[in-house]
Amino acid sequence: FDDRDGFIWLDGALVPWRDAKLHVLTHGLHYASAVFEGERCYAGHVFRLRDHTERLLQSARILGFEIPYTAEAIDAACIETLAANNLTEAYLRPVAWRGSEEMGVGARATKTHLAIAVWQWGAYFGVEQRMRGVRLALSPWKRPAPDTAPTASKASGLYMIGTMSKHAAQDQGFDDAFMLDHKGDLAEATGANAFFVIEGAIHTPKPTCFLDGITRRSVMALARRRQMVVHERVMPATDLARASEVFLAGTAAEVTPVACIAQHAYTPGTITRTLMEDYDRLVRMPPEEVAKVIG
Ligand code: PMP
Repeated sequence: FDDRDGFIWLDGALVPWRDAKLHVLTHGLHYASAVFEGERCYAGHVFRLRDHTERLLQSARILGFEIPYTAEAIDAACIETLAANNLTEAYLRPVAWRGSEEMGVGARATKTHLAIAVWQWGAYFGVEQRMRGVRLALSPWKRPAPDTAPTASKASGLYMIGTMSKHAAQDQGFDDAFMLDHKGDLAEATGANAFFVIEGAIHTPKPTCFLDGITRRSVMALARRRQMVVHERVMPATDLARASEVFLAGTAAEVTPVACIAQHAYTPGTITRTLMEDYDRLVRMPPEEVAKVIG
């Protein structure tokens, strides 16, 4: 992915894609002092840009480092990077990390670096996977407790579990993994939150040990505008057998129907289809309209 044309914003300047490099003694690489964002630009507008930027700043603070830019400056850098790459439909990847100025777990003299890359990234799951619904295996790994890991931060270190879980699922012929939490209750997929339709109402796990996704919150607002009933609650694993429809929600995944979780099969129905369409429409609205819809 490093050998291509284009520009990456790195510590305040746009640099050619191939030159956006770090030193091997980067603290973030050794000790996972890194946080990132995933955003999408539709029709020239980054969907909920400021919410993503604020989460990036907060993710770093949770890990104990401060990103040396204001939210306004980061928003402007995102827009500048899109323009430099001539993109109006794109995925954006801001990432911040402790640098190579000092080594050791306890290093404090590191500088915080920030980079922003943007590229065209179509459907996170292939179009065919999306149409038939994605097939999820149950992960052998659990989401850690909030006093075991910084679960409210979009911290790179947490994605080690995601990669292992997704690879394990793919090795068994599934598309992705669904994860339970440290107590054995339903949590989320490796890169998206989950919703379950049970007896006509929408249920979603309370985000006590995983990201309260920006897409998740948008979808809940869209559902409530449609007078759909949405319950946010602790969901035991036995709810897998009670659901009729299941779908994922995340910036990259957008709203994606789920065909099965382990041996439990689901059929995408009216609720999933309605929210997929509502979400597709919402993300293409100008930011003022988005604010009106999601409140
Ligand atoms: N959970 C995980 C583990 C994720 O990586 C993501 C994607 N950022 C989400 C949930 C959904 O978050 P959002 O809707 O803010 O993209």
